[in-house]
Amino acid sequence: MSESYIETKCIHEGYEPGNGEPRQIPICQSTTFKYDTSDEMGMLFDLEKEGYFYTRLQNPTNDAVAAKIASLEGGVAGMLTSSGQAANFFAVFNICEAGDHIIASSSIYGGTYNLFTVTMKKMGIECTIVDQNLPEEELDKYFKQNTKALFGETITNPTVNVLDIEKFAHLAHKHGVPLIVDNTFATPVNCQPIKWGADIVTHSTTKYMDGHAATVGGCIVDSGNFDWLAHAEKFPGLTTPDDSYHGVVYAERFGKAAYITKATVQLMRDLGSIQSPQNAFYLNLGLESLPVRMRQHCNNALKVAKYLEANDKVAWVNYPDLESSESHELFKKYLNGASCGVLCFGLKGTRKQAEIFMDSLKLADIETHVADSKTCLLHPASHTHRQMTDEQLKEAGVSPDLIRFSVGLENADDIIADLEQAFKLI
Ligand SMILES: *Cc1c(COP(=O)(O)O)cnc(C)c1O
Repeated sequence: MSESYIETKCIHEGYEPGNGEPRQIPICQSTTFKYDTSDEMGMLFDLEKEGYFYTRLQNPTNDAVAAKIASLEGGVAGMLTSSGQAANFFAVFNICEAGDHIIASSSIYGGTYNLFTVTMKKMGIECTIVDQNLPEEELDKYFKQNTKALFGETITNPTVNVLDIEKFAHLAHKHGVPLIVDNTFATPVNCQPIKWGADIVTHSTTKYMDGHAATVGGCIVDSGNFDWLAHAEKFPGLTTPDDSYHGVVYAERFGKAAYITKATVQLMRDLGSIQSPQNAFYLNLGLESLPVRMRQHCNNALKVAKYLEANDKVAWVNYPDLESSESHELFKKYLNGASCGVLCFGLKGTRKQAEIFMDSLKLADIETHVADSKTCLLHPASHTHRQMTDEQLKEAGVSPDLIRFSVGLENADDIIADLEQAFKLI
């Protein structure tokens, strides 16, 4: 169905029922799968035959949903994970080991920043954090012999700036490494990073894809475009024999599906951050309505952003769709006419007044979450990013007064009325 529009793909990709079979993706809530002969089972363990044997590695419900997301992103294969954190960890760890180095934008999600700079450091993988807006010649200098990946977010969380994906892809490829892009905020409805040169795309499906604050999940999609064998010395995990499978060489045996196959049969087997089939089912329900919901999120967010921009109690607003946004040119290039439902702003006045304002909102809840059907807000400096020093916050572009506002699916006039009553109190 590669020629269809995204609305159609969101409904139909990944699963096609046969005659008399369930129309909706069945939930295969089973840990294991039965075989008639021990020989058949043995071939599955040797990767000589395709098939299901244990849900920690693969499950039909998860595979159908992963295939749908892969199709939406224009990739060759996908893998669901238990969370977005697991997706980003696996995406990097699939091609890195102790002694390696990665480069990531300073504007990435706080959880990913921690993962890369604290936890993975303990595993011997070093991360250099860079300002994604630096010119290519400046960014060039951060690449080293042992650099294995470049990482950024299409729209950064929480600062909602747009990544220059082509610049990052060009840089990564010049140095013989893949570009990994976390496309959580834009979703494939508004941007498909693979079209712009990204090699691997990740998602926290917890956000818009699920869309209802119901299930935590993640996904990795492989474009199939990166030539691992051409850079064989950098990626031994993909280009030399894996002893745990009788010496299989993933890049030789699995071609364009090498990266996802390795992530599935090696990392999932050993680390086991699988998504439950039940959650994959919920995720699929979210995917079916994703384009419709994204349209409403974005229309609402633009109205709210314009309202805030015109309000004299607001010091600044950032929303890529606004002409005033520093990301507006990149928005016009990379986003499909709309960005996402998240915006950020700062208030004039004291920290205390900002707290009164946030606490006075009735419709908008104070939540850690973002990007679901209910309008919510968060103050990163005192919540998600509280582990960061002022210096790190500044580096990540998170000013202490930044309020992240996630515009839901309610009527925009009700959201604005809620803001209006809270502004009256400060
Ligand atoms: C939330 C988020 C994550 C982490 O995802 P979880 O599903 O919460 O583990 C990663 N990247 C981005 C951009 C996010 O917004």
